[in-house]
Amino acid sequence: MVDRQRVVIVGGGFTGLYAGKKLEKLLPASTAELVIVSPTDHLTYSPLLPDVTASVIEPRHVAVSLRQALPKHKLVVGHTTSVDVEAKTITISRSERGQVEQGTQVLSYDKLILAPGSVTRRFPIPGVAESARGVKTITEAAFVRDHLIAQLDAADALPDDPRFDAERAERMTVVAVGAGYTGTEIVAQTQRWLTRVADRYSRIDVKDVRWLLIDVAPAVLPELGPRLGQYALSALKGRGIDVRLGVSVASVEGNVINLTDGAAIPSRTLIWGAGIVANPLMATLGLPLDRGRLVVDAQMRVAEDIWAAGDAAAVPDLAKPKPADGPQPVTPPTAQHAQRQGTQVGKNVAASFGIGVAKDYVHKDLGLVADLGGTTAVAKPLGIELTGFPAKIVARGYHLYALPAMSNRIRVLTDWALHAVLPPQSVAINATRPEDALITTAQNTEIYPKAEDKPKVG
Ligand SMILES: Cc1cc2nc3c(=O)[nH]c(=O)nc-3n(C[C@H](O)[C@H](O)[C@H](O)COP(=O)(O)OP(=O)(O)OC[C@H]3O[C@@H](n4cnc5c(N)ncnc54)[C@H](O)[C@@H]3O)c2cc1C
Repeated sequence: MVDRQRVVIVGGGFTGLYAGKKLEKLLPASTAELVIVSPTDHLTYSPLLPDVTASVIEPRHVAVSLRQALPKHKLVVGHTTSVDVEAKTITISRSERGQVEQGTQVLSYDKLILAPGSVTRRFPIPGVAESARGVKTITEAAFVRDHLIAQLDAADALPDDPRFDAERAERMTVVAVGAGYTGTEIVAQTQRWLTRVADRYSRIDVKDVRWLLIDVAPAVLPELGPRLGQYALSALKGRGIDVRLGVSVASVEGNVINLTDGAAIPSRTLIWGAGIVANPLMATLGLPLDRGRLVVDAQMRVAEDIWAAGDAAAVPDLAKPKPADGPQPVTPPTAQHAQRQGTQVGKNVAASFGIGVAKDYVHKDLGLVADLGGTTAVAKPLGIELTGFPAKIVARGYHLYALPAMSNRIRVLTDWALHAVLPPQSVAINATRPEDALITTAQNTEIYPKAEDKPKVG
């Protein structure tokens, strides 16, 4: 018989929520006190953030309440800024309205699950930190939606005078970086939405909004293979989107985005979807990392009483063969894996209390989907390549299934239904200040001590 122990989950995303659900099911209250630390009181269903930027889904409808989903947990709203693995404590910076406050709190743990996910990957490109907009949080997605409307409103208000042509061009040009599923879905869906609301503007033709999707890689949606990538590329080009592959951003100077091929694009909108990196908290632990993700074993264990999973951890992908000349591949950073890793990590932590048996994480990828707006999408469920309307059905069906709460499913389904029959919404709420929607502030990427300040754990 062990004393009642405190199990702390860091992060209330896919991994944290599913780990918590499993712990609530398996661990009696007499065995464990359950605590979850999260900067927000909800899980963000990020795969539907493109629908938020395209005004299809109301932002709150992709937010799954942690208090409702995990009633047996104590929710501490704040950021974990450091972990002392020897003292078995974490330091929490309390947050209010998503912003980190000065007050900190030290919380001890007996068992710790690290699941703080990832942040948008930026590169040290001059001007990007000050101007690029990520789409990783609800705040950012809603901001981008409002910002696009604000650009059109401002362009529409400009006098018909050639002196304002340059500003009009800046405001009517959208540049998105990253032709993976985030950038591609956002451009495809948002462009279609604005095209549909074109006739609401009196002095501009929204069809003249210039869209650029750029990526240093040679293909669109490489995650889905060449055929589906080619289909998506044709769909984007068919809508007049200028897709430039093999190029990146060299710098941003004022309202000009300079590309690596020498092109200079006047624009006030730079959407940044150039991938993700593990949460910077991981680099402060002094523990081994694999390309920024915390190294874990197949049971997602980091140390005796610490587990990690999801985007923040390099979980061995046992469903893939190990190459003769290299290490075991790790699972890709997707919700599909994070959710299942959460469930398994919950079981494994329960096993450490003598309840059940710890097992390795094994999951064969079910494939990815990418919604291209309207009635079209691309999807690769279980390796079967789908395009057009069948892919759209699969994409939406998958999201409804994967949304972790019934009330969110109903709200999202209702939004989709209303969007299909009503005129699209084109109103800006402007609830977020531009400076609060920068990647560093919206994702709080600068709140962690630098890795070199932390002594290595032996
Ligand atoms: C636009 C977009 C579209 C996507 N589409 C798909 C898709 O179609 N299919 C798919 O499988 N995947 C998709 N993904 C990827 C998927 O969302 C992630 O892989 C998944 O969310 C990872 O789960 P996680 O639990 O590791 O992290 P998250 O779900 O991101 O959760 C991490 C949590 O930790 C919190 N946190 C951050 N820092 C701290 C801290 N210091 N202390 C405490 N808590 C912290 C965060 O607020 C968050 O709640 C998409 C992602 C984006 C951004």
